[in-house]
Amino acid sequence: MSNSLVLVINSGSSSLKFALIDTVNGEATLSGLGECFGLPEANVSWKINGEKQQVQLEASGNHHQQAVDRIVALLDELGMKQDIVAIGHRVVHGGEKFTQTVKVDDTVLEEIEKLSDLAPLHNPAHVIGMRATMKAFPALSQYAVFDTAFHQSMPAKAYTGAISRKLYNDYGIRRYGFHGTSHYFVSREAAKVINKPVEKSNFISVHLGNGASVCAVKNGKSVDTSMGFTPLAGLMMGTRCGDLDPSIIEFLLKKGWSQEDVFNELNKNSGLLGVSGLTSDCRGIVEAMEEGHEGATLAFEIFCYRVAKYIGSYMVALDELDAIIFTAGIGENSLPVRSKILENLKIFGYREDAEANAAARFGNKGIITQPSTPVAMVIPTNEEWVIAKQSMEMLHS
Ligand code: AMP
Repeated sequence: MSNSLVLVINSGSSSLKFALIDTVNGEATLSGLGECFGLPEANVSWKINGEKQQVQLEASGNHHQQAVDRIVALLDELGMKQDIVAIGHRVVHGGEKFTQTVKVDDTVLEEIEKLSDLAPLHNPAHVIGMRATMKAFPALSQYAVFDTAFHQSMPAKAYTGAISRKLYNDYGIRRYGFHGTSHYFVSREAAKVINKPVEKSNFISVHLGNGASVCAVKNGKSVDTSMGFTPLAGLMMGTRCGDLDPSIIEFLLKKGWSQEDVFNELNKNSGLLGVSGLTSDCRGIVEAMEEGHEGATLAFEIFCYRVAKYIGSYMVALDELDAIIFTAGIGENSLPVRSKILENLKIFGYREDAEANAAARFGNKGIITQPSTPVAMVIPTNEEWVIAKQSMEMLHS
C-alpha cells in the first residue's frame, strides 16, 4: 500500500461517517459509521471484505472522540494508519466566507463555528469531529471541503431573495445552495463523457437522493441551484417539502402549532413520506405505485413533475445545454423516475432510450436518451473522492 490514503470524515450531530480513500485509484479501502451518539447504544461499525463488524462505545461521554479513537485503533490494527497522509472533512456550510477547500487551523475552526447560525445542526457537529481528529492525528494536515463552496459563483440575481436588502445585510439571508461537491464532481465527469473541456460545458445537474437539488452549471461553474438558505428549499425530497408558500408557516402557527412542530413537519414528515403516507424511500414508492397505491402514485407524480419544472426553468440560466445529469441514490438507480422526468420534458425534445436507461444503474454511467435527441446521462456521484482528492491537492500545493 502506498502513502496515498486520505481519511474522509463526515461528522454529524449524532453520527460520524468515515471512509479511507486511496487517492491513486479512488477506491474506498474501508468505510464505516459511528451512530447513536449521545445515547447508551452509541457504536461504531464498518465493513471488511463484505462483513459488518460493530463495537459499542461507552454508555456516555464524548462519543465523537470515542468513535474517532476507535477508528484510529482500527486503522492501526489493519496496518493502514501509517499510510494516511491527510484528513478531509465534509462541511455543510461555508457561508460567503469559504469559496474553496481550506486547511483547517484555529481560525478556520472559529469561522466554521461562527457560521453555526446558518447551519445549527451541522456546523457545530463538524467542529466537534474536527477537534476529535486533530487530537487523534496531531501530525496530519486536515482540510475542510464545503457543500456550499461550488455555488459561490452564482450571480447576485440567482442568490438574492426578493426581500429587503436589510435581511441580507443584517442576517446573510440569501441562497447558498448545497450538494456542491456532488454537482462539481458529476459536471466534471460529464464533460469527459461529451469530450469537452469542463470550462466550455453547460449542464443541468440533478442530484436526487434523500436530499435533492438541481444545479445549472455554466462553463463549469454553478450559476443557480434549487436549495436555498437551507437544504429545505427547492425540490420535493424524501422527507422535506421543498418550495412552499411561506405563509403556510404563519397559518400553522396561528392554528396553534409550535414553531418546532412546524419545522419538524416540513423537514421530517413531508416530501415522498408525507404525500405517500408510506415511506420516504423511492424504491418503496415505486413498488407501492405499481400495486396501485394512490398516495405513492401521487408522490411519484409530484416528485417527477417538480424535477422537470426545475430543469425547464434552468434552461433560462444557460445559453446552451450539453446535457442533463442524473446522480445520487434515486438519480443513479431509479429507471421509472428518470423515465418520467424525461417524459415530462418532451417539449424540449428529450426522448428516453429505454435500453440505455435500464443499463445505467448500480454504479454504471451512460447516456440514456436516443441518438440525435437532447442528451441526458447518468453519472454516479462520489463526494468522498472529491474530498480526498482536494485534500491531497492542497497537501501538495
Ligand atoms: P442517497 O441519499 O443518495 O443515498 O439516496 C437515497 C435514495 O436513493 C432513497 O430514496 C432510495 O430509495 C434511493 N435508491 C437507492 N437505491 C435505489 C434503487 N436501486 N432503485 C431506486 N431507488 C434507489
